[in-house]
Amino acid sequence: MNVDVIIVGGGPVGLLLAGELILAGVRPVVLEQLSERSTAYKANALVGQVVRFLDHRGLYQSFGGRGDRPQPAPAFLFGALPLKLSGLAENPLYGLQIRQARLESLLEQRARDLGVDLRRGHRVQELRQDDDAVTVQVQGPDGCYEMRTGYLVGCDGARSGVRKMIGVSFSGFTDPSIISRAAHVTVPASSISTDTADIALPSGDRIGLYAWHRTERGAYVVVPHEPGVLMVSVIEWDGPPITGEIPVSIEEVRASLHRVLGQDLPLAAPTTPGPHLLRRVYVANTRIADSYRHGRVFLAGDAAHVHSAVGAPGLNLGLQDAANLGWKLAAQVHGWAPPGLLDSYHAERRPAAERVTMHTQAQLALMSPGPAVTALRQVVAELLETPVVTGQITDLLAGSDVRYRTHPGTPHALTGRFAPDLDLRIGSRDTRLAELMRPGRPLLVDLTDASHLADLTGPWRDRVDLVTAHAPAPPADALLIRPDGYVAWALGPNGNDHLLEALGTWFGDPQ
Ligand SMILES: Cc1cc2nc3c(=O)[nH]c(=O)nc-3n(C[C@H](O)[C@H](O)[C@H](O)COP(=O)(O)OP(=O)(O)OC[C@H]3O[C@@H](n4cnc5c(N)ncnc54)[C@H](O)[C@@H]3O)c2cc1C
Repeated sequence: MNVDVIIVGGGPVGLLLAGELILAGVRPVVLEQLSERSTAYKANALVGQVVRFLDHRGLYQSFGGRGDRPQPAPAFLFGALPLKLSGLAENPLYGLQIRQARLESLLEQRARDLGVDLRRGHRVQELRQDDDAVTVQVQGPDGCYEMRTGYLVGCDGARSGVRKMIGVSFSGFTDPSIISRAAHVTVPASSISTDTADIALPSGDRIGLYAWHRTERGAYVVVPHEPGVLMVSVIEWDGPPITGEIPVSIEEVRASLHRVLGQDLPLAAPTTPGPHLLRRVYVANTRIADSYRHGRVFLAGDAAHVHSAVGAPGLNLGLQDAANLGWKLAAQVHGWAPPGLLDSYHAERRPAAERVTMHTQAQLALMSPGPAVTALRQVVAELLETPVVTGQITDLLAGSDVRYRTHPGTPHALTGRFAPDLDLRIGSRDTRLAELMRPGRPLLVDLTDASHLADLTGPWRDRVDLVTAHAPAPPADALLIRPDGYVAWALGPNGNDHLLEALGTWFGDPQ
């Protein structure tokens, strides 16, 4: 065996996974086909629970997050309808403004600093697995070579070759009648008003920046990208089909916007150095891998799921796949993974993808033209006036409604959910729960100084850290937290039932 784990693909998901494995004591090899990082314009922001996970690893602030901890968004959209988040008692919609190229650059630097063997210009061409290992054929800069690995993770994007090589179906549908066109553009400078956050059209009408607008012909959004440059995105239902291999142009985006707006907005190509966005896709492309695991091979990120980009959920979903799989794979390599731990990756993460494909399709349907949809929007808009409904939709968008498998009985309400961030005092030191998660190790936080927990968990001490801390108004007496930030067990007023069971379920037999 050459290595324990090979990761195919050095995009954001592969790079985060590599870092998680290193934290857990496994040194993976990352094979990335591109000899230099892609400069293609992709994500602009992370939205949802993953922002809190980055905070757990100390990456929120180093990746440019504002404040000393993640901040929830004051407002957002659902299907181009406004969501008022300021009235929510708990707003889980955390955001981090960061361009994907920068995110990848920071994740790559971190992975290299941690000691990841990242090989650029190495393309995986073939793989086969037997009972003991996976063998890959790699085309590198100096020719072809073969490697054997205990486990392999395909983080190789939506067109995943790994997924095809292991014969896993990518079930779902692609609707060629719904086309999205997007570009970075300039418009006459005099037409933009930053004071009122809108643009004047030649007719004198004004259109607001930032929010999606729906018309009876389609939907569009205009967002400032950098000084003098805007991002325009337009979605058309039953517009002119994509013909042949004609490359998309600014003129095509302008014509699409004209059809949807019903009037022209003169768009031109930016003169600033790129990379600039210019893209045309079938936006209703919704697919999930039937299985996230096939023997010793796993799928994560876009290799496992694709969906429309409405609400920007891609990295929230994909990076949390990496967080979920990393520690489990490491446990398997170290030999203490309990039965079923590796299979829990599919069991936990595929339903999370189903939630995202559900809400992105629902949002797209709500943005589509037609009087029946207009009526439906009215109903949904009225429902969204209710804080309970807004809270539920916001949980869905953030991915904070995900609850993983819990132990039998009546588990504490926090069990299976992402751990709340808590202000803590340990001795004379003030800290936060998120700061205790930096090492990426399982953690038992004892919030009541229940010293018997130390006796109970002693046999797991090689893999579970124990901290005694004080918190104002703690939501539980103790919390057992997995490395991916999810609560495996929590102690409520009804005693400590199931702690040993939870330790065994997630962290294997005691030493
Ligand atoms: C225009 C656009 C805007 C977006 N905006 C947002 C947003 O605002 N927020 C958000 O959360 N998401 C957004 N997304 C989605 C987000 O970009 C993706 O979800 C994300 O890139 C997925 O990361 P990944 O690592 O799974 O795959 P990728 O980023 O596709 O990386 C896969 C990597 O695998 C490599 N690879 C492929 N095959 C092989 C092989 N055989 N051997 C070796 N290497 C291989 C590729 O070169 C690539 O580097 C956007 C996407 C686009 C296109």
